[in-house]
Amino acid sequence: MATDTNKFQAIISHCKEYGFIFQSSEIYDGLSAVYDYGQWGSELKKNIRDYWWKSMTQMHENIVGIDAAIFMHPTTWKASGHVDNFSDPMIDNKDSNKRYRVDHLIEAHADLLEKEGKKAEADALLASMDALLAKDDLAGLKTLIEDSKIKCTVSGTANWTDVRQFNLMFSTQLGSVSDEASEIYLRPETAQGIFVNFLNVQKTGRMKIPFGIAQIGKAFRNEIVARQFVFRMREFEQMEMQFFVRPGTEDQWYEYWKAERLKWHLSLGIPAERYRYHDHVKLAHYAKAACDIEYEFPIGFKEVEGIHSRGDFDLSQHQLYSKKKLQYFDNEINQNYVPYVIETSIGLDRTILLVLSEAYTEEDLSTPEKQDSRVVLKFPPKLAPIKLAVLPLLKKDGLPEIARQIMDTCKPHFYCFYEEKDAIGKRYRRMDAIGTPFCITVDHQTKEDNTVTIRYRDSMQQERIPINKILEIVQKQIN
Ligand code: ATP
Repeated sequence: MATDTNKFQAIISHCKEYGFIFQSSEIYDGLSAVYDYGQWGSELKKNIRDYWWKSMTQMHENIVGIDAAIFMHPTTWKASGHVDNFSDPMIDNKDSNKRYRVDHLIEAHADLLEKEGKKAEADALLASMDALLAKDDLAGLKTLIEDSKIKCTVSGTANWTDVRQFNLMFSTQLGSVSDEASEIYLRPETAQGIFVNFLNVQKTGRMKIPFGIAQIGKAFRNEIVARQFVFRMREFEQMEMQFFVRPGTEDQWYEYWKAERLKWHLSLGIPAERYRYHDHVKLAHYAKAACDIEYEFPIGFKEVEGIHSRGDFDLSQHQLYSKKKLQYFDNEINQNYVPYVIETSIGLDRTILLVLSEAYTEEDLSTPEKQDSRVVLKFPPKLAPIKLAVLPLLKKDGLPEIARQIMDTCKPHFYCFYEEKDAIGKRYRRMDAIGTPFCITVDHQTKEDNTVTIRYRDSMQQERIPINKILEIVQKQIN
C-alpha cells in the first residue's frame, strides 16, 4: 500500500493514465499549474458542479444562481481592494532563482523545526511571522528569514532578494487599438460578479432578505508557488454563494452556513474525521469572522472551502465607487440598509482532488495461489463519471445485440459505457480504475431467461438480475 506522499503521486499518475486530468499543453512540455480535464475528469467535474448547484439553488428556495462574465469593469477591483491588497509577499533566492511565498517558506521551516523536536522555537518563529505580516513589515520578514538561517531547498543557500509584494491578478488589454485600450483583469474570484448584480437579482427576482446568490465559474490567480497538482492552480473554478442578511443577524447565519456546508461535504459519504474547521485568528480587514473547512488530503489537512462573514464591506465599497445605491428596503422593520454578507466559497478543482483522494484505493487481492491487486476509484455513485458499463461476454452469438438494447434503454437516464473487447476480468478492472459502480454482463443464459449478471464495484460481488430491473437498481443508487 502506498504511503501518503506516494499516494498523492499515485493519484496524479492515475489521473493521467485513465483520462481524468492532463497537464495543459503537454506536447509543448506543459504550462505550469494549468491543467486540462480529460474525458472522465470532465464528467466527474460536471457531476460535482451539478451536485453543488442543485444543493445550493434547487434545494434552497431563497438562493438563485447567476453566471456573470469573467471580465468586469476595472473599477470593480479597485472597489473590492484587489488592486491594492490582493498580493502575497514573496522572496527570490538569487542562486536558484526560485521564488517563494514568504509565509510558505517560513512555515516549511517551522515544520522542520517541529520535526526536530524544537516546538517552542517553531511556535516563536510563526508568531513573529504573523506579527510582521500583520504590519506589512517586508524588511522585518527578510530579517526574520535571514536570522532563522532559512535556506532555499534548490540551491541550499540563504542568498535572498528583498521581500516584495506580488499582485496575483492577471491583466490584459480590452480594445484593439492600443491607445484606446484599457487594462482589465481576469477575475481572481467569482464573488464580485455577484455583488455588482445584487440589486439586479434582488429586484427582478423579488428576493426578500435573507437570500443568496450562487455562482460557479473560472477564476485566475498568478500564484507564486503553484504546485500540488490541482490543489493550487493559476486557472481554476470556484463555486461561491453570497448570502445577504439583515445587519445584526450575521453571527447566526455564519454559524448556520458553517454547519450547512460541512453537512454538504458529509453527504458525499466522506467520514467526518477527515474534516476539520480552521477558524481564522488573523482576519482580513473587512471580515468579521472567517473559517476554513479543511480536508485531510494525502498531503495533509488543507483548506477546501472558506466561510466568511464579510459585513457590508463589498456592497458599501461598490456603492462608494459606482455612486449607485446598493441598499435594500426591509419592510418588516421599515428600514433601508446595506445588507451584510455571509460567503461560502469552495474550489471545484480542490473538491475534485478531495473526491479523488477519498476514492483512490489500492487493494491487495492475492490468494495463496496467485498474486493480484487492483486500483479502484470508490466514487459515490452519484459522482461517478460512468454509472453503468454494459459488457457482452463474447462478441458473437447475439450477445452484443442484447447488450446494445440495454444501452439504448439506459443511456437516456445516465452515462453508460459499452465495451466488448478483452476478457471480462480485464474489462471489470478497467471499470474499477475509472470508478464505474456497476457492470452488467450479458451471457448465453441471458438469451434463455432474460437475466444478466450485475457486478458491484466496491464489493466485487455479482448477482443475477432480470434485465428489466437494471434501470431501477442503478437509479436508486445514483439519486
Ligand atoms: P489559499 O489560502 O489556499 O491560497 P484562499 O484562502 O486564497 O486559498 P479563497 O480566496 O478563500 O482561497 O478562495 C476560496 C476557495 O477557492 C479556496 O477554499 C479553494 O478551494 C479555492 N482556491 C483558491 N485558490 C485556488 C487555486 N489557486 N487553485 C485551486 N483552487 C483555489
